[in-house]
Amino acid sequence: MSRLPLFPVTTVGSWPRPQELLKSQRLLQLGRITREEFHRQAEASILELLEIQHEVGVDIVTDGEQRRDNFYSFVHDRIEGVRLMSMADMLDVVEDKAAFERILQTLDVPAFSLYNPSCVGRLERRRTLAVEECRFLKEHTDRPVKIPLPGPYLLTRAMWVPELSQQVYGSKEELSKDVIRILRDEIRELIEAGADFIQFDEPVLTEVVFTQGQTRTFMCAALSAKKDPAEELAFAVSLLNQVLEGFSGPTFGLHLCRGNWSPDESILLSGEYHPLKASLEAIRVDQLVLEYATERAGSVLPFEGKSLGLGVVNPRTPEVESVDRICDTVRDALRHFAPADLTLNPDCGFGTFSNSPVNSREIAAQKMHAIVEAARRLRKEHA
Ligand SMILES: [Zn+2]
Repeated sequence: MSRLPLFPVTTVGSWPRPQELLKSQRLLQLGRITREEFHRQAEASILELLEIQHEVGVDIVTDGEQRRDNFYSFVHDRIEGVRLMSMADMLDVVEDKAAFERILQTLDVPAFSLYNPSCVGRLERRRTLAVEECRFLKEHTDRPVKIPLPGPYLLTRAMWVPELSQQVYGSKEELSKDVIRILRDEIRELIEAGADFIQFDEPVLTEVVFTQGQTRTFMCAALSAKKDPAEELAFAVSLLNQVLEGFSGPTFGLHLCRGNWSPDESILLSGEYHPLKASLEAIRVDQLVLEYATERAGSVLPFEGKSLGLGVVNPRTPEVESVDRICDTVRDALRHFAPADLTLNPDCGFGTFSNSPVNSREIAAQKMHAIVEAARRLRKEHA
């Protein structure tokens, strides 16, 4: 991505979907329209978003995840052996129903927006996960494109529902081997399709360290039985490194955050990156895409050998951050990172779960505009 200016601006991935597209998504799930019909509509929405990003001046564009119901359960119709289950479906199959209900009560998310891609058979990629997203973007923009993918740890934890998965896989570790194979095949094809930036989403990593054994959790992907945090982190690092081994070309990123479903900051997880630092440094990614606009993330830490995708705006608030404030956040990060190692982005997506976006397209565009203005000012200072 040599064409990029200093402080390139990008998003973490998702943008809110238009009402019509959400309606079509429901019709698609009910089997009342075809994938082709849905995709035609999603493409119209993606083209609008591309225009917004071009106009605002976003340097690395995404398709806003318009074809996905959310950032990880969308794999259900692309991978054989996965069944999309509602929380009510899950309650039917899990053994410890009381514990499961306790977790559901603390989720604070409208249950209708939560579906889990559960493993019920041997995993095989039926069609690519995001290659068509990448190809469509490359056809319609000259700018570098970012493709977010659910990380192997997130997918393994979400898919592993012992009551169902054990009929096929002896353990979570065994299941993870097929997840790794599927993601490696995907990366290979994404590189061929010209992906400039591939970002793995692993938000559950914060849940591992910040809940410290409490049952409180924030995503259905975090439902599977918890081990010691250190063991879980080692497992996650190993999965990501196996997925990434030997690949080069695109920028590889890793995004984590502390939950992105509610504007109420008090119910989202809190904690600095310290307990994750060594693990994050050990993962073979070029860039860490991290929250820093929210105070819950603490102050900017240096990360050995990594560039930083610095979160400078909160995707969940209606107020647009001032350019001054964004510049201050960047100056704070410049204490630990060279200007060439900083990319500017929001803390997370604007529409992580398709039917409960955390902001409107208008506010999202205004926030991106503020980041672009800040980047322009900073480029002058560092020219
Ligand atoms: Zn996030």
